[in-house]
Amino acid sequence: VCPTAALTEINHSDKVWEALNDPDKHVVVQTAPAIRVAIGELFGMEPGTIVTGKLVSALKRMGFDEVFDTDFGADLTIMEEASELIHRIESNKTLPILTSCCPAWVKFIEQQFPELLEIPSTCKSPHIMFGTIVKTYYAQKNNIDPDNIVVVSIMPCIAKKAEAKRPELTKDEHNNVDIVVTTRELGAMIKEAGIDFNSLPDEEYDKPLGETTGASVIFGTTGGVIEAAVRTAYEWITGEQLGNVEFEQLRGSDGLRKASVNIAGKEIKIGIASGLGNARELLEEIRDGKNEYHAIEIMACPGGCIGGGGQPYHHGNYEIVKKRQQALYQEDRNKKIRKSHENSEILKLYKEFLGKPYGEMAHELLHTHFEERERI
Ligand code: SF4
Repeated sequence: VCPTAALTEINHSDKVWEALNDPDKHVVVQTAPAIRVAIGELFGMEPGTIVTGKLVSALKRMGFDEVFDTDFGADLTIMEEASELIHRIESNKTLPILTSCCPAWVKFIEQQFPELLEIPSTCKSPHIMFGTIVKTYYAQKNNIDPDNIVVVSIMPCIAKKAEAKRPELTKDEHNNVDIVVTTRELGAMIKEAGIDFNSLPDEEYDKPLGETTGASVIFGTTGGVIEAAVRTAYEWITGEQLGNVEFEQLRGSDGLRKASVNIAGKEIKIGIASGLGNARELLEEIRDGKNEYHAIEIMACPGGCIGGGGQPYHHGNYEIVKKRQQALYQEDRNKKIRKSHENSEILKLYKEFLGKPYGEMAHELLHTHFEERERI
């Protein structure tokens, strides 16, 4: 059961095997940032063991045509979200901006605070952005009919299954993401395929959509999305290179945190909530006009996606979640490029296909809208 008590898990692994066994389908898989620091637990490894290379290797042996990283979609999200943040700060309108990459949280605001639907970022979530780019840019470049492409997302999250079916997140009648399976489902599939995960060699994501940065890796933890956005917004606003890209004031594991970052002499006030009770507290402040934040990151699961409902069970032991968090920060430090706007394949994607960040084409493909929904 999802820790937010919102959803019960439905297994979709049969659909993935069906696609992999269909010779007419080109099957592309993407893995979310939080998977690489948790899936090892299903094979007896210590929490927080980084198994990115083995994860890629297992997926290639399962028969996927391309193995990509949702981190690429996260870098793309930052290009759009940092642009939106700057636009709203400069115009001093519709502040604070709220991150929108967590579908459980998006549904929560749609059902419980419909009067605030102007303020979430309109960015699609990273795996949906990625699916959109696969069905458009990638399909065109590789001369593949998008109808024959199946995009599979490996997610730490049960709510992502429902998100992928939202009608407003499709383009030209193609589902951007066709099938979502959780970390636990993938672990079971690897075992079913008879793959000895622990003895796999490390392999690399396919290119070009596999190039990623440290900023995108930390999307998997509470505070990571807003830190990634600040790294880019800071350099775009000031025109200066950051000496240290780690914003300690945005890190931590408490469910509700408040911080500020000085950008070009202006204090940017930031709120971070994980867990919907904490989100409610911030939303009530906004509704009552008592909130002075410029930006707020909200994740439904305590600790963010590393503690997601599709991850290996931690049975309430948050030390496990903290070890996964530390592993993501280590993975960020291991990366040569740590800022989304320095991802060369992202820059090429804008040059060849999307035009400007937050421009017309980017709006059409990478942004969405929110609607009041009935409480069930
Ligand atoms: Fe899914 Fe939880 Fe991450 Fe939200 S915080 S996207 S519900 S795993």
